[in-house]
Amino acid sequence: MLKNKKILITLGLLLLSLSVYAQPISVNSLRYWTAPDHTRMVFDVTNTATHQIFLIDKPARLVIDFHNAKLKSLLKQPPKDHPLFSRVRSATHNKKGLRVVVDLKAEVNPKSFSLNPNKTYGHRLVIDLYDKTSKSNKYSAKAVDSSKQVTKSVTSKARDIVIAIDPGHGGEDPGAHGPRGTKEKKVVFDISKRLAALINKKPGMKAVLVRKGDYYIKLRKRMEIARAAKAQLFVSIHADAFKNPKVKGASVFTVSKRGASSEAARWLAQHENAADLVGGVKLADKEDMVATVLMDLSQKNTKEVSRNIAGRVLRNFKNIGHLHSQNVQKAGFMVLKSPDIPSILVETAFISNPDEERKLRSAKHQQKMARAIFKGVVDYFKQYPPPNTYFALNNANKHIISRGETLSGIADQYGVSMRSIKIANALASNKIQIGQVLKIPRG
Ligand SMILES: [Zn+2]
Repeated sequence: MLKNKKILITLGLLLLSLSVYAQPISVNSLRYWTAPDHTRMVFDVTNTATHQIFLIDKPARLVIDFHNAKLKSLLKQPPKDHPLFSRVRSATHNKKGLRVVVDLKAEVNPKSFSLNPNKTYGHRLVIDLYDKTSKSNKYSAKAVDSSKQVTKSVTSKARDIVIAIDPGHGGEDPGAHGPRGTKEKKVVFDISKRLAALINKKPGMKAVLVRKGDYYIKLRKRMEIARAAKAQLFVSIHADAFKNPKVKGASVFTVSKRGASSEAARWLAQHENAADLVGGVKLADKEDMVATVLMDLSQKNTKEVSRNIAGRVLRNFKNIGHLHSQNVQKAGFMVLKSPDIPSILVETAFISNPDEERKLRSAKHQQKMARAIFKGVVDYFKQYPPPNTYFALNNANKHIISRGETLSGIADQYGVSMRSIKIANALASNKIQIGQVLKIPRG
């Protein structure tokens, strides 16, 4: 009985695979999503594509062989100024296959995988081409922003408060849809750009857009980009959706306890990754026990800051519209799990609600939402300025020097470093005079 069943199953599988082979897949179209360090090519196909990819030299080309496949219509050519490709051609290969050849302008590292159908697209074959020569591969903080030369001269020695802004989704992942077809990835990108502009106008602050265009970034990579930019806060911006179109309003999330602890465990398990964490303390050098304690302390602080800022942002959203939930929500969202960077996720509105979809598209309302987030963030950092930032130096106590006082004594008295006092007062040496008024930075 058992044996017979096995034979039947094997036969069934054989027939199934035969029928798949008999029916050639159709390659319908090609899309490109260009990111700073890679380009994603997406082929729409009628079924999971059996394929092979390889590179050829002189001239450099990428070859994609689809087995048992036919081209349905001409493939879209890349834009003329594309950094990686110049031309895409296709031809029948080995009678039943389809060969696509891409002329390359730069050295690339190709990776391919299949995607199953979702709400927006059917079966797809994805090819990611990483630019081997691109500097933005490393996401160095230096490469991130140089647009703030003007305020830099004022705050020459104070460090900027860096805010990483993460517009959700992007590229092949459109996020949620509104009834009029508005895409979440588009409106959250618009709001993010407005938020970045507000932050960059504020002396002592700098915005880093985690996603700078219409392409997808893996969730862990988003966190890495924020860390490389030395961000003090990570703000992920989204729009919600629900099957009931009446549901509306904003919500603000921080990471749930379970999400945070599982991620911390993962980080500790990978000592290499954990090395850069917790305020420059190299965990890899420490015993496991110490590492756990340090991680807990860092996480506790991260959690408190996240919750404080989330609460402020939520209150500001209340002033401009409806709240979906009156309290800060908790969820295991991946992008919120950095143990060392305070992180919040803002669901700005329900894109599935026709009225809120209209608001999400309106420039005026986008600006209001950006301002609500901005105000919450700025208010927090004004109250709790990180040491040696413009906010700390301009939010200073005054101290008049009396006889016998030293700079180190004053630093001890206020619990700040001598260095930060010197920066706040532009002192070249440790010399001070009786009657001199010193600004004492907070924090
Ligand atoms: Zn989203």
